[in-house]
Amino acid sequence: MPNRCPIESTKVGWNFDNSYARLPEPFYARLNPVQVREPRMVVFNHALAEVLGLKKEVLEGNQGTPFFAGNQLPLGAEPLAQAYAGHQFGHLTMLGDGRAILLGEQITPHGKRFDIQLKGSGQTPFSRRGDGRAALGPMLREHIISEAMHALGIPTTRSLAVVTTGEPVFRETTLTGALLTRIAASHIRVGTFQYAAGREHPEELKALADYAIQRHYPDSSEANNPYLAFLQNVINHQASLVAKWQQVGFIHGVMNTDNMTISGETIDYGPCAFMDQYDPATVFSSIDVQGRYAYGNQPVVTRWNLSRFAETLLPLFHSNPEEALAMANETLATFPDRFQNIWLSGMRTKLGLFTEETDDMALIEALLTWMHQNQADFTNTFRSLGSDTLRKEPFFKKADFADWHAQWQARLARQPESLDRVLELMRMSNPAVIPRNHRVEEALKAAVESCNFSVMQNLLTRLETPYEDRPGQDVYRLPPEPNAPPYQTFCGT
Ligand code: AMP
Ligand code: MG
Repeated sequence: MPNRCPIESTKVGWNFDNSYARLPEPFYARLNPVQVREPRMVVFNHALAEVLGLKKEVLEGNQGTPFFAGNQLPLGAEPLAQAYAGHQFGHLTMLGDGRAILLGEQITPHGKRFDIQLKGSGQTPFSRRGDGRAALGPMLREHIISEAMHALGIPTTRSLAVVTTGEPVFRETTLTGALLTRIAASHIRVGTFQYAAGREHPEELKALADYAIQRHYPDSSEANNPYLAFLQNVINHQASLVAKWQQVGFIHGVMNTDNMTISGETIDYGPCAFMDQYDPATVFSSIDVQGRYAYGNQPVVTRWNLSRFAETLLPLFHSNPEEALAMANETLATFPDRFQNIWLSGMRTKLGLFTEETDDMALIEALLTWMHQNQADFTNTFRSLGSDTLRKEPFFKKADFADWHAQWQARLARQPESLDRVLELMRMSNPAVIPRNHRVEEALKAAVESCNFSVMQNLLTRLETPYEDRPGQDVYRLPPEPNAPPYQTFCGT
């Protein structure tokens, strides 16, 4: 049994509430994490602990480890596994937390509410044939990439800690077991609504929708039709999220509806990766053979997922099914423009444009086409546009680039802002460093195979300030060698 020692808990700063556990029972199964043999902390996120109002000096030592291993429960925790469904590569399946436990919600000193979830915490009633556990490599990978996304300014779940369990996990080979403590605005997914809708108990669906509205979009409840306003809010947040992904070359890799949050945070860092050379068809995930979740498809898939979400809410929009459907379609139809506008304004900032001109889209598309044809590195090309590199590198001396460059310069000259302001905007919009796939792999290899965590720590430190230049950053900035084998990712179990 987990030790429920309340004295230890209060010293740590836990301030728990369990609002999700007050939803109707079919939304979860109550159970404790399965204890692990010999937990050891390998990463602890001081900055995030502070945001959460947790005492980092207590948690980072031996006293913190049992909490992040699931061996000791925070005071006030009511652990549960969440039930949900989801379209996986287009097929609807019953899922649920098969290897995660929601401990509860930490209320921060600023009154914000965050889910605290252990990932890799043992079997649950939703485990199907899985062992409920996670391996160290994928948990560290989630830690690195989710923290990098946060530093890039992209809404995301975060990682508070990673501990090893002292127990092996068996995949193709025997691996080191580990847990990640995931922090999220909530873990309510499109798939949570699909689960609710599938049960055909209207009062449960309404309870979930009212709960999600209150938790994430309380302004919706003031609208004429709160559920339609809720849908619109989720559409807006997801449109903004996927636009931000596109602008840093992030490829989620497994945009199943269970991996899409209602809050608009990025969730589930399994087979995700960052694009090096610009190519809309880029896919890294080994199982995505048809390219369903390719870089260029992400906005379309977001829209498809939002349609599945809207379907679940139909009975709440209107008692007449035809009217409800018309309302849903009208609201969903706002997605393309919404996405396009957010994307366009983000791309303008990447080019240092403060004003709007009708030909901006053509200017941006011309650059992307040139980048595609010339296998240009996505991140470094945009960063170079606002730096000396442009003058120095032979790559940018090609005649077709000079044409585009002249158009861009003429466009910049038509706005009143000074060159200094243009360069400042570009520096804030084009990261100098991203978590390059080969650097992430190098850090994971050192940690997992040699227990050397310093490579990862150095990488994490560099990724904390992605928009700033730092001495000696080339190692993090440069793409892989041209003759490196194509990068492939695997679902992170
Ligand atoms: P994911 O691919 O991480 O989005 O997970 C899809 C589903 O598989 C979720 O319901 C997970 O809880 C479940 N799952 C993934 N890995 C395991 C595992 N090792 N044991 C049990 N369930 C798992
Ligand atoms: Mg998932």
